[in-house]
Amino acid sequence: MNIIDLHCDALLKLWEAKGRLRFADAPELQTNKARLQKGQVKVQGFAIFIEPNMPSDQKYQAALGQIDYFYKEVLGKNPDMVHIKEWSDFDRIKIGQIGAILTLEGVDAIGNEISKLRILYQLGVRLVGLTWNNANLAADGAGEPRGGGLTELGKEIVVFNNEHQIFTDVSHLSDKGFWEVIELAKYPIASHSNARAVCNHPRNLTDDQATAMFKKDSMIHVVYHPPFIKESGAATISDLIKHIDHFCSLGGVKNIGLGSDFDGISQFVINLEDASKSQNLINELLKHYSEDEVRGFSSENFLDHLPGKRE
Ligand SMILES: [Zn+2]
Repeated sequence: MNIIDLHCDALLKLWEAKGRLRFADAPELQTNKARLQKGQVKVQGFAIFIEPNMPSDQKYQAALGQIDYFYKEVLGKNPDMVHIKEWSDFDRIKIGQIGAILTLEGVDAIGNEISKLRILYQLGVRLVGLTWNNANLAADGAGEPRGGGLTELGKEIVVFNNEHQIFTDVSHLSDKGFWEVIELAKYPIASHSNARAVCNHPRNLTDDQATAMFKKDSMIHVVYHPPFIKESGAATISDLIKHIDHFCSLGGVKNIGLGSDFDGISQFVINLEDASKSQNLINELLKHYSEDEVRGFSSENFLDHLPGKRE
């Protein structure tokens, strides 16, 4: 069954390796092309991620550097990788091809300049999270102790996203930031978050938050990172499915997708260690859910909620 995986950090690894890793088959990448093919991942989201402690004046260049690897390594050396730049491009992906979406995990790179975000949009970024776990000029993240929400700049970015049919990602946001985004964003999404009721972690969504997402007909993509799945001990695929069960119990059966976080994690769900293992999750889901429901989780729900689809 085809999968849309909305979050991985392969670009960060490619950029850090300065050309030493081949996207086609580097074993260091949990998300390389061979593994995507084996796991039947039909569309992959590629995040641009900038370490928060990098000197501010180097961050934009680092973002452009990661985009350069997206163009020259991921797309340039693999003609069967298709850049999804418009939401209508999903229809262009042929059998044997894999779609690739550029996403931005935190806007640190743009400083306080929306013009830089506009350039990233023109290069293909179609999903934007305001911040990672720390605070930045746009918002406070889930790990920021003061727990603030969005700044004026953060709100301007959400408005920019609304105007350009860009998803605003609530994964990593502080709780206060979450509620401000859900008010303001036309296209909120959680690209890689689980249920806090199942695993009490600030990176996960509370029941109130998940219910608000579903009321707004927004997607939550579950993440394969063990600390977000289970409070202690090794995590299994069944443990991950408990989060899907819980979101379904809140009315989200049509609003659940997948966001692995491969290449951004160093602990793994047993039998879900890289993209090639993705069908293990599908096969286990098929024991609990109908084929239509599983197809929803794996790809169709996301396709039903593309910006512009229901306007
Ligand atoms: Zn993340």
